[in-house]
Amino acid sequence: MKILVVNAGSSSLKYQLFDMERGLMLCKGNCERIGMDGMITHKCPGREDFHATPAFPDHRAAIGYVLGLLTDRELGSIGSVAEIAAVGHRFAHGGERLRASSVLGADEIAYLESIVPINPLHGPPAISGFKACKEVMPDIPHVGVVDTSYYSGLEPHAYIYPIPYELYEKDRIRRYGFHGTSHRYVAGKAAELLGDPSAKIITCHLGNGSSITATMNGKAVDTSMGFTPQDGVPMGTRSGALDPTVVTYLMKKEGLTAEETEKLINGRSGLLGVSGVSSDCRDVREAAAKGNERAALAMKILVHHVKKIIGSFYAELNGADALVFTAGIGENDRELRKEVCADMTALGIAIDEEVNAACPRGETAELTAKGAAVRTFVIPTNEEYMIALDTLRLAAQNK
Ligand code: ADP
Repeated sequence: MKILVVNAGSSSLKYQLFDMERGLMLCKGNCERIGMDGMITHKCPGREDFHATPAFPDHRAAIGYVLGLLTDRELGSIGSVAEIAAVGHRFAHGGERLRASSVLGADEIAYLESIVPINPLHGPPAISGFKACKEVMPDIPHVGVVDTSYYSGLEPHAYIYPIPYELYEKDRIRRYGFHGTSHRYVAGKAAELLGDPSAKIITCHLGNGSSITATMNGKAVDTSMGFTPQDGVPMGTRSGALDPTVVTYLMKKEGLTAEETEKLINGRSGLLGVSGVSSDCRDVREAAAKGNERAALAMKILVHHVKKIIGSFYAELNGADALVFTAGIGENDRELRKEVCADMTALGIAIDEEVNAACPRGETAELTAKGAAVRTFVIPTNEEYMIALDTLRLAAQNK
């Protein structure tokens, strides 16, 4: 059975095609500059990458082109579109109603449209991407896999903000959590490695966007992210958690509008804001190694916040069986893993520095130092495969 996974952004459409019987990714690619001119990169393992600049006036044109490519005699991976059994769509936000992955029908789409006000950036392109795919593949199940759904089991005391309760009732202001598909995937893998589905696991997804999740009994119990993906640890360009009055003070003092302030905390803060060098962790590390003090400070702030959240989740879970690092920084930056895990022996966290330093890229590895109570892992995330697995399960049930 072949499953196509689609992740639509405002001007992009990423896709991966999986052969689920063999657990293989057949090809993947990214359509970019949709609505402007158009550009595609298509990659199949073992073959040369394909690049082209077709016209992509909208998502419909992009998905049409992708289907042509997937079935192309030379470049393709399948004989015909009919081989695609179902499509899995990634949605960042499912509000309070989409609490699990589901086959998307008119009701679900109407609900996703109704929550665009709380998901203005990701919602509209994901809905357009879905509609475009549904139009060209009308007869197969289209499954929505929603990042926030992993947090649908959070207790009210974990998701209600201590502001007037009416604002939750009226405006749905609450903690939703993000990156749930990644956290669900790596926490599931860690539970498998521990041989304990009820394990207490703290997962650190540290990439351009970063978040930390506490999982127990296979369910998320807390997340560092909040109403939007702006909360929690500092990120490439996002500030992470701030005293809220920093925002209102700045608006008053600098005369900033709401939009300008959002741009400041979303696009000019985090690693970029502090270092003044780059939002990319590799560049910041390199600058720090050359003696740039603000770059070194940016990395120290990141480590400080990651440690703080691990500690708070350890308290919340009343212990931890595993700590997991994933995503671009978590999987690749051995220095950061070393710094985060330093001086955490009181919590039973300690890693073997040699194993950490030699940790092979793109592979699962256990870093736990001898005698440490908490097992520490690097587990490469694979959100697309998680989406494909959910899609396969729901498509089978939908038959
Ligand atoms: P996204 O959130 O966009 O999916 P990724 O998970 O790909 O992002 O993470 C991107 C981040 O990972 C960037 O900050 C990048 O610098 C960082 N990264 C990638 N490789 C390395 C590396 N070898 N060392 C340090 N950071 C790395």
